[in-house]
Amino acid sequence: MRFPLALTTKIAAYIVGNKLRGTKKFATVLQLEPLHTCNLTCTGCGRIREYSTSMKDVMPLEDCLGAARECNAPMVSICGGEPLIYPQIEALTNGLLEQGRIVYICTNAMFMRKKMREWMAKELINANREMRNDLEGKIGVLLARNLITEKDAADIRKGPKDANKPVMGPSKWMYWNVHLDGLERIHDLIVEREGVFKECILAIKMAKILGYQVATNTTVYKETDMDELEQMFDYLSDLGVDGHTITPGYDYDAAKKDMVARLNLQPENFFLTRDLTVEKFRRMEDWMNRYTFFGTPVYFEFLAGKRDLTCSAWAIPTRNIKGWKAPCYFMTDAVGTNGTGHYASYSELLENVDWDKYGVVDGVARDPRCENCMTHCGYEPTASLGLNAQPGDTWKTVRFNFGARPKPTGRGSETVAFNGVSSGNGHLTGKQAQAEAKAG
Ligand code: SF4
Ligand code: SF4
Repeated sequence: MRFPLALTTKIAAYIVGNKLRGTKKFATVLQLEPLHTCNLTCTGCGRIREYSTSMKDVMPLEDCLGAARECNAPMVSICGGEPLIYPQIEALTNGLLEQGRIVYICTNAMFMRKKMREWMAKELINANREMRNDLEGKIGVLLARNLITEKDAADIRKGPKDANKPVMGPSKWMYWNVHLDGLERIHDLIVEREGVFKECILAIKMAKILGYQVATNTTVYKETDMDELEQMFDYLSDLGVDGHTITPGYDYDAAKKDMVARLNLQPENFFLTRDLTVEKFRRMEDWMNRYTFFGTPVYFEFLAGKRDLTCSAWAIPTRNIKGWKAPCYFMTDAVGTNGTGHYASYSELLENVDWDKYGVVDGVARDPRCENCMTHCGYEPTASLGLNAQPGDTWKTVRFNFGARPKPTGRGSETVAFNGVSSGNGHLTGKQAQAEAKAG
């Protein structure tokens, strides 16, 4: 099967249950942002700009868990900021799993190997002889493949620094969701730091050896070379990555402002318009059969310009330090509690936002800011909930979900993937480049 049966069944049962109860609007995925602090400054990231005044604030653990209970979405995507910086990320992940949710941790991967080493250290002291042998075997493999150092192995064998601190172990309900926007040269350029791509790949390899589930998420920009992405998906499929999400990067307000103010770049040279999105995603229908993309064939047809969908941003709500963001992940309107653009509860968000004011209908943008948006957050739920259904959609989706999982393509190449700093083709980016330019 393309996706694990237990996951597909859980999501399907939730959607059918809501439909049978006649619930018109409900959450399918909660985008939970427990903090906006990040260790990177990626080009095109609106979060580090929009929430620059609350970068140090974090949501209390109970509020995070309460938000998931409140909207009851079967899937929670923990994002941010960088969620692995959140001080209680382990307790949050475990708490959400205990609530029976499917958890995606959207990470830039820089702290993933550390978190996995912490899990191994705790696992080892609690292990019986058989498990211990198994873990020792894995330590040997990780050492042989340079995924941990001898010092890391010694630290793991010493046991956890704090035996009471929870850890994040492999689970069929949890995915590391690694941000990857291209092969080494391009990814490092976009995240404005060399070495990040390499760390992502090391973390993915380590996670697969330890039995974690791994997904990747990719945003497509104007200059994205789709042939390069194909090479990236070939490589990732050979690494055993379990699935991918992909979405077009469009010029939403906060990202545009960051680009102009911080980098002095013109947003129109970076982000996709609607027409450019369709052009870029022309081969999506071929890709969805070749690689394991998370999503529905209907959304992929929409991206490829084969059909129209309306926006259902209410189904993928965003909860952060300020509340429930209105109307969507990308835009913040002067509504909500004290006009902050955030509501105190999901039900207030659902009731108070005039959802008919947003999206693009029959080619006409109801709000000019929505004109170029064809993102996963707005349109994937429209497809998965069958809101603009056409005859045959249900069977198409069932065939897709229950169909065979695409096999690794066998075309991945380390030499092709590491085409940046590792092969002497690096570039200096971000603050360092600015400092050198000034000095020069
Ligand atoms: S895109 Fe993610 S990793 Fe990059 S700066 Fe924004 S929050 Fe951080
Ligand atoms: S189309 Fe929907 S998801 Fe996109 S910006 Fe508009 S309201 Fe937000």
